[in-house]
Amino acid sequence: MSLRTPRVAIVGAGMSGIGMAAKLTMAGIETFDLYEQWDDLGGTWHANTYPGLSCDVPSRYYQYTFAPTQTGATCSPRGARSGPT
Ligand SMILES: Cc1cc2nc3c(=O)[nH]c(=O)nc-3n(C[C@H](O)[C@H](O)[C@H](O)COP(=O)(O)OP(=O)(O)OC[C@H]3O[C@@H](n4cnc5c(N)ncnc54)[C@H](O)[C@@H]3O)c2cc1C
Repeated sequence: MSLRTPRVAIVGAGMSGIGMAAKLTMAGIETFDLYEQWDDLGGTWHANTYPGLSCDVPSRYYQYTFAPTQTGATCSPRGARSGPT
C-alpha cells in the first residue's frame, strides 16, 4: 500500500494557522498552502492595535509548546508581543 502525500489548505495565518503550518512541517508534510486575507501574519494580534491592548492570559500559557519563548517579560504581554507575531 502506498501512502499518498496529503495536500492541505490552511485558511488564516493567526495563531491557529501558523501552529498548524508548524506542526505539519514538523511531521514532514510541506505540501500545504497557507491563505491569509490580510497583509501580514498574526490574525487577531495583527488586526487589533488599540491603545492598552494586552493579552489576558499569562504568557507562559499563550505560546506554542514547541516554541516556548523566554522573554523574561510580562505575565500579560501587550499588543504585538502577544500571539504568534
Ligand atoms: C480584541 C481581542 C482581544 C483578545 N484577547 C485575548 C486574550 O487576551 N487572551 C486570549 O486567550 N484570547 C484573546 N482573544 C482571542 C484570540 O482571538 C485567540 O486567542 C487567538 O488569537 C485566535 O487565533 P486564531 O488563529 O484561531 O484566529 P485569528 O487570530 O482570528 O486568525 C484568523 C485568521 O484567519 C484569517 N481569515 C479568516 N477567514 C479567511 C478567509 N476566508 N481567507 C483568508 N484568511 C482568512 C483572518 O484574516 C485571520 O488572520 C482576543 C480576541 C480579540 C478580537
